[in-house]
Amino acid sequence: MKKDKLAARLLVFGGSGFIGSNFIRFILSKHRDWRVFNFDKLTYSGNKENLKDIEKNPRYFFKKGDICDRQSVDAVFKSFDPHYIINFAAETHVDKSIHVGALEFVHTNVEGVFNILEAVKNSATARKFAQVSTDEVYGELPLDKPDEKFTENTSFHPNIPYSATKAAGDLLCGAYFNTWKVPVVVTHCSNNYGPYQYPEKLIPFFCARMLENKKLPLYGNGRNIRDWIYVLDHCRALELCLLKGRSGETYNIGADNELTNLEIAKMILNHFKRDESWMEFVEDRPGHDKRYAIDSSKIQRELGWRTRYSFQGAFKLTLDWYINNKEWIEKVRRRTGVFNPHIDLWKGHKINNK
Ligand code: NAD
Repeated sequence: MKKDKLAARLLVFGGSGFIGSNFIRFILSKHRDWRVFNFDKLTYSGNKENLKDIEKNPRYFFKKGDICDRQSVDAVFKSFDPHYIINFAAETHVDKSIHVGALEFVHTNVEGVFNILEAVKNSATARKFAQVSTDEVYGELPLDKPDEKFTENTSFHPNIPYSATKAAGDLLCGAYFNTWKVPVVVTHCSNNYGPYQYPEKLIPFFCARMLENKKLPLYGNGRNIRDWIYVLDHCRALELCLLKGRSGETYNIGADNELTNLEIAKMILNHFKRDESWMEFVEDRPGHDKRYAIDSSKIQRELGWRTRYSFQGAFKLTLDWYINNKEWIEKVRRRTGVFNPHIDLWKGHKINNK
């Protein structure tokens, strides 16, 4: 690959998934001289279609590969000499880590992060590595103390296998900074919504159900609270962390938008002009965290980050995107089968997921 001396080179792990694909599109349009290399295993949630519109962009490169394969990770560093590195590659579905098993989560979310850290440690060009993580590492907040939020000083208390493996990856990052001054920042973001999200996650899953004229299943009493952020606000925060974040630091990212799952379901029903008989309560999943809420004052104060999208506007945009991209949903279904087999498994339904 020809390397332009002036252009910044960004290596993205897991860029074919939901947030990664939005991030790559955002960076390519904002930084007109940057080169972006996407290294992705294309698991069930990774989808080349998510970046079809930029596939032929001469500043974009793709290689299928696994971050658990140390040699492949080293090889991509050697061929691309990245300045910036960001890791979205992860096993991300909480239900899968509970009902199917957590071994793949341990491999990708821990061993994979280790391989990237080793490569960054040995790199002569790396300026910053951003490890994209989640607020779920902090555990849960009580429902009766609405003023409490997760800060960067909140201690880790992961309650489920997914968040435990993410916390382990984050701890490795801290250790590599403390021991070798590896230039790494860790980000903890709240729940994202936006286009191109694999329809096992709440909002696209509910949209897919509506489009198929199926009821919306809500865990427990639907009162669990999540803090929602539009994916492009998250992408801008990540760009700032790469360019201006202080190595060794963690940054919490959230948009102060707490909603119960029940409220989300009702807004979706309203958008699809359906009444509440289209909603059903199903048995809660084990270890279901009650509430997440992020205090993002540090990234606002230190890096000047602010949200730009209003929830009302971006939520509507998102629902309309899924409605207008039924074909994308259908293609994903043809490729991967049932979207959220765990809900059906949990309810004792027979499923035919691969
Ligand atoms: P996603 O499941 O949509 O995408 C994950 C991507 O990683 C896919 O493209 C997949 O093919 C790839 N991948 C998985 N295992 C891999 C491996 N071993 N090697 C290479 N590629 C691999 O996930 P997402 O929602 O885009 O999340 C991205 C990151 O952001 C994750 O680390 C997640 O923990 C974090 N995060 C997500 C949210 C959210 O609301 N979605 C919130 C906070 C943090």
